[in-house]
Amino acid sequence: MTKIRVYELAKELNITSKELIKRISDLDLDINSHMSTVEKEEAELIKELLGSEVDSNEKNVKEDDNIEDIEAIEIEENIVVKDLAEKLDVTPSEVITKLIPLGIMANQNQAIDFDTASIVAEEFGVSIKPIDIEKDSEDIGIDLDFEDDSKDLKPRPPIVTVMGHVDHGKTSLLDAIRKTAVTEREAGGITQHIGASTIRIGKEKIVFLDTPGHEAFTTMRARGAQVTDIAILVVAADDGVMPQTVEAINHAKAAEVPIVVAINKIDKPTANPDRIKQELVEYGLVSEDWGGDTICVPVSARNNEGIDELLEMVLLVAEMQELKANPDRKAVGIIVEAELDKGKGPVATALVQKGTLRVGDVVVSGTSHGRVRAMIDDKGKRVKKATPSIPVMILGLSEVPEAGEYIYVVDNEKKARHYTEIRKEKIREEQMKASQKVSLDDLFEQI
Ligand code: GDP
Ligand code: MG
Repeated sequence: MTKIRVYELAKELNITSKELIKRISDLDLDINSHMSTVEKEEAELIKELLGSEVDSNEKNVKEDDNIEDIEAIEIEENIVVKDLAEKLDVTPSEVITKLIPLGIMANQNQAIDFDTASIVAEEFGVSIKPIDIEKDSEDIGIDLDFEDDSKDLKPRPPIVTVMGHVDHGKTSLLDAIRKTAVTEREAGGITQHIGASTIRIGKEKIVFLDTPGHEAFTTMRARGAQVTDIAILVVAADDGVMPQTVEAINHAKAAEVPIVVAINKIDKPTANPDRIKQELVEYGLVSEDWGGDTICVPVSARNNEGIDELLEMVLLVAEMQELKANPDRKAVGIIVEAELDKGKGPVATALVQKGTLRVGDVVVSGTSHGRVRAMIDDKGKRVKKATPSIPVMILGLSEVPEAGEYIYVVDNEKKARHYTEIRKEKIREEQMKASQKVSLDDLFEQI
């Protein structure tokens, strides 16, 4: 049978829960008015009997309502007596005393439900309202797309993905880029594999994703996330445009990510960069020296040739994109890699997209949550914060989150748990639906 909460019913009637309970007992109905819920039929009856009476008092009630709106304190669905007392600014024993007439013998560590809490709160002249978790999580959804004020935006480094056909030199190129950067870095820096790396060119930074483009694009896009700002398309000069080259072009185009072409292996005697440029025209990529707007840089990952120029071009394209983010807000990022480390527990590398992530922040990512215990950068160094675009490995999560999942900072661990619970509930529901669908199909098959 459907139950209606006294609190909801009171709200509907525009009166307080306490008032409603008093009126129910005045009505002398056979309803246990100390219950926090009533049956649906009972609620209908109450509404019918009280409806007109309530209307005539509407003016008074409206004023009450205003006060309620201003002063309502948010509390959890189930709150421990002690915590409620604190919120109401009274002692736990005062709360306990108010619970006795309601037939509840509680100690200060016992949890009471929201409706009971609201009756107690009213006794102290305080209005409470439940924390609207669903709404909060929606807020986070809005928050992710939340447009920052342009005056708060500061330049951020570009995030680059290397794409291309197998064996055209993606890994070699990334290695060559890192080597180039290593010489500019302080000596002794041992690269830590965290799924992405930051390289420094003079005053500028570029962030490279380790995952070859296709994977990065598909896992990210499956969740609607987008981390790449620029794609470097590697094409071997001795080979040509191949199926995965075309796939890479399509991925980048679909995501509206600008492409910088690296024509690799120019050290090979059979290399023919012009043929590559010719083939690329078919896919809408016309080299600059041919009157188009696609930057093509001939390189040799093996001989470290053209790498500096390539990086310069990446910075040029980044500059045209005017990549910016607000570093002064609660951090939102994307998980690029995650695993269970034997010693460290769940570890996840995130790229901060907005805001600044700090050690001690409480974060949520899918069904995983936790307080950031430590952060490690791509040089294996412990860091206290990560600003937009900067990849860091995060320690302190409750479980291993999924790549492509958002990670975001929330106010406190209580909220974090709420969000992960909602997420888990949604997953359970989806699984239920999926299994029901299967069993229905099975049923039809049997018929
Ligand atoms: P990936 O599959 O795209 O990651 O390609 P790899 O980086 O693994 O390179 C495939 C092969 O091409 C390896 O044997 C590399 O040594 C070779 N290779 C990569 N870059 C160059 C280059 O600039 N010149 C030559 N000659 N060989 C290269
Ligand atoms: Mg490779």
